[in-house]
Amino acid sequence: MSEEKKLLEIKNLNIHYITHEGTVKAVNDMSLELKKGETLGLVGETGAGKTTTALGVMQLIQTPPGKILSGEIIYDGEDLLKKSQTELRKIRGNKISMIFQDPMTSLNPVLTVGEQIAEVIKLHQNVDNSQATEKSEKMLETVGIPKSRSKDYPHQFSGGMKQRVVIAIALACNPKLLIADEPTTALDVTIQAQVMNLMNKLKDEFNTSMIMITHDLGIVAEVCDKVAIMYAGHVVEYTNTKNLFTNPKHPYTIGLFNSIPNIKDDEARLKPIKGLMPDPTNLPLGCPFHPRCPKAMSICSQQEPCRTEIYKDHFVNCFLYENVDNKS
Ligand code: SF4
Repeated sequence: MSEEKKLLEIKNLNIHYITHEGTVKAVNDMSLELKKGETLGLVGETGAGKTTTALGVMQLIQTPPGKILSGEIIYDGEDLLKKSQTELRKIRGNKISMIFQDPMTSLNPVLTVGEQIAEVIKLHQNVDNSQATEKSEKMLETVGIPKSRSKDYPHQFSGGMKQRVVIAIALACNPKLLIADEPTTALDVTIQAQVMNLMNKLKDEFNTSMIMITHDLGIVAEVCDKVAIMYAGHVVEYTNTKNLFTNPKHPYTIGLFNSIPNIKDDEARLKPIKGLMPDPTNLPLGCPFHPRCPKAMSICSQQEPCRTEIYKDHFVNCFLYENVDNKS
């Protein structure tokens, strides 16, 4: 993908967790990039490595048991893996912010929402208390909550309103990169669309790049410019959203699309992907998807496929698209 205006570049990233049950290879040889203003969707089932990737970018992998073994995470031209903890504290919440799935895990129950927004502003900006309060009230209004509610506590808000407060905290310092980890999963369906629309609108208003972690291809279609499909810690397909929806190539991606209900399809039953995700401490040899893949060949259980650029900016890790002699 083009070199211009890259904000984030992840190169050959490997993150493992060493547990009593064995080594979980959570992220394997991941390479992705994000340009300024773009939204990248990280899509996959639970355990695919999406959240570990986000925590890796935020440098919040708990060590032990987690460890970033190798790779580079270049943010605005500098490798985050080479930064000190003091430097990272200045980046987190200021230049890179994260929104988690459940707003209650992000909010402090004993501080008012106004205090919590003001806290992050004071931490990163040279402002006094009254300026921080003023800015915090403005942020509340930006996310559609009247400033008169700034003295209320999180328990006085509904789930959707709490997530709006979390968004206000995340955007308070105008970060260049926002990482949203399934930000609407814990909300009622009717509220999900409102929160997603708000995030999309504010992303444009604040000129923020975004990584949207989701298992929902509907959300991807709505908000993402490009998509990385993850399976068992591997990016298996990586391209722009239009290519992914019009011309998916990896058998796993095709399986994901086949398992979505389609009102135009006469077939009464969905076609789920057979089998289960492999045990992360015991990934199969070869292509990690081979035990479930309807197109598996003999080579698939012996070797791991490499990333192949099948068209411009459309990358797939699958032997179907590599020039192999033994496709039998
Ligand atoms: Fe299926 Fe083989 Fe491609 Fe893996 S490499 S997705 S097993 S065809």
